[in-house]
Parts: sequence; structure tokens; C-alpha cells
Amino acid sequence: MKYECEMIRDLLPLYHDKVCSNVSERVVEEHLEECAPCREIAKKLKNTAYDEKLQIERESVIGAHARKVKRKTFMVGAYMAGILMIPVGVCLICNIAIGHSLDWFFIVLASLMVFASLTVVPLVVEEKRGLCTLGAFTISLLFLLLVCNIYSRGRWFPVAASGVLLGLSVVFMPFVVYQIKLPKPLHCQKGLLVMTVDTILLYGVIIISHFYGRADMIYLLKGLMINTICLLLPWVVFGIIRYLKTNGLIKAGICTIIIGVFCAFINDVIALVLEGRLHICILNADLSRWAMGMPMTGQGNTVDANVWLLTLIFSLTIGICLIAAGVKKSRKPMENQ
Ligand SMILES: [Zn+2]
Repeated sequence: MKYECEMIRDLLPLYHDKVCSNVSERVVEEHLEECAPCREIAKKLKNTAYDEKLQIERESVIGAHARKVKRKTFMVGAYMAGILMIPVGVCLICNIAIGHSLDWFFIVLASLMVFASLTVVPLVVEEKRGLCTLGAFTISLLFLLLVCNIYSRGRWFPVAASGVLLGLSVVFMPFVVYQIKLPKPLHCQKGLLVMTVDTILLYGVIIISHFYGRADMIYLLKGLMINTICLLLPWVVFGIIRYLKTNGLIKAGICTIIIGVFCAFINDVIALVLEGRLHICILNADLSRWAMGMPMTGQGNTVDANVWLLTLIFSLTIGICLIAAGVKKSRKPMENQ
């Protein structure tokens, strides 16, 4: 027998409570297959009726308590919704009485809807609470913006709405995608889905803002080009983290180098797109001289160049160290075999 019975018997309570590691679990199971006395002890441990009774009792008590809490929470939510109807009613009457039509009433209504989405909805809804709250909040917020836009006779709603959607999507989209059930091909590509939606929304904000500002077409094209160049960084980093099949240290090393190189040269690339002339800032670096340069033109400025040079050196050093550590780590298990 590979393992001593005594050792296995020490492990049995942990194995029974399912708190031991996978390795220990496998060892215990292998041993139990071969050893009848230990198997007997394991069986006794399993048949402790007291344990099971306690479990059933615990579950029933917790279940009853949870149902009670749920009912109470729902009632609080319902009362709250009722109370919110009072200002809605008052404003409805006042608006008709004073203005003989409904205009600012809709702003009050929409504001209260935003408030209710964050207070009443989470109390009343039972399943997918976070998702419903977020959905209600987004819709009521967009409604509030639309109403304000109409009231102020503006045309800023598309800009505001696309910006709000982008912000909410960047922060909350990962949680939403995590909670909902997606169809098969998308199921394993949640990260890709989030990145794609955020990217499309970002381009949307730029295009919509352009038409709101009624600027020259060339600015839109330059803006889209710069946006595309800047988006390369998050997309490349995402691709490495999600799809590169290697260990975490190597991924971290590659990402560190890419981010360092990107930061050191991105300003030069943007300047090239905007002004059409290539000027590599880092070539001005002189670590013995830290001068801000001439006012206005910035001629002779070495601070920027020095900072980017140091960023590049440090990120390359850290990145190479991480990759080396990662390679060493990935070789180790092979040597052991
Ligand atoms: Zn044994």
C-alpha cells in the first residue's frame, strides 16, 4: 500500500467535509479502493445521521427566514413606490394649473424614475436584481436626458446619450455579460463581446460628437485615426491576456513591454497624424539635463524625452525579467517529469 493507514485516517474527516485539497482527495480515494478497514471507517463517518439531520434543519430554518425577509423587502419597496406617487401627483396638478400643459412635469417624473430605479427596483425584484436595477437606471437616465433636451429645445441628446451609454458600458458591461446566459458561440467569448461593444460605442461617441459640433470632415477622419491607433493598445493587451497560451508571468512581461513602448512613442505617432511631420521625442533625451524648454514653443524641452526614455528602459527591464521568470517557471515541471 502506497500510504500508511494512519495518515489516511487523519485525512478522512477533512475528506468527508470536502475541505481537503484535490491531491489529498485523490490519495484518500485511491487508498479506500484498496483498503477494507479504512473503507469501513469512511462508511461510518458518512452515515452519521445526526450530521444530516442538522443539515436539513439548518436549511429549512434558513429558507423560512429568507422567505420572510423577501416578503418584508418587497413590502418596503411597494410602500416606497407609493410614497413616490405623491410628488408625481402634486407636480402633475401644479404643472397643468400653472402652465395649462405638461412640460416640466416630465422632468420631475423622469428624475423620480431615476431615483426609483435605484431604490424601488432592487427591493421589489427577486431575481437578477443587479441586472434589473442597472437596466431600469439606464433607461430612466436616458429618458431624463431626452426630456431635458426637449424641454431646453436642444439637440444634444444623442451626444449625451452615447456618452452615458459608453461610460455605463465600460464599467458595468462585464458584470452584465457575466450574469446573462449567452447563445453558444458567444458563451466563451464574453471578453471579446465586451471589448467589441465598448469599441463600437467609442466610435459612436466620436462620430455623433462630430456631427453635433459641425466641424470639418478632416477632423473626424483624424479623430478616428487617432482613436484607432490608441485602441490598438487595449486590444493587443486583451488579445495577449485572453488568447495567448502561456503562463501569467510571460503574459505580464509581454504586456509591460508593449505598454512601455506604446507610451514612449504614442505622442509622436499622434503628432504625425495631426501635423504630418515625424519627430521622435525620445531622441532629445539627455539625462544630465532636465529643462522645460522655451515657453510656448517648448523648444529644448528634455523633461518629456527623459521621462519617456526612463519609462521605456524600466518597462523593458521589468518586462524581460518577468518573461525570464515565466520561461523558468514553465520549464520547471518538465524537468521534474
Ligand atoms: Zn488503510
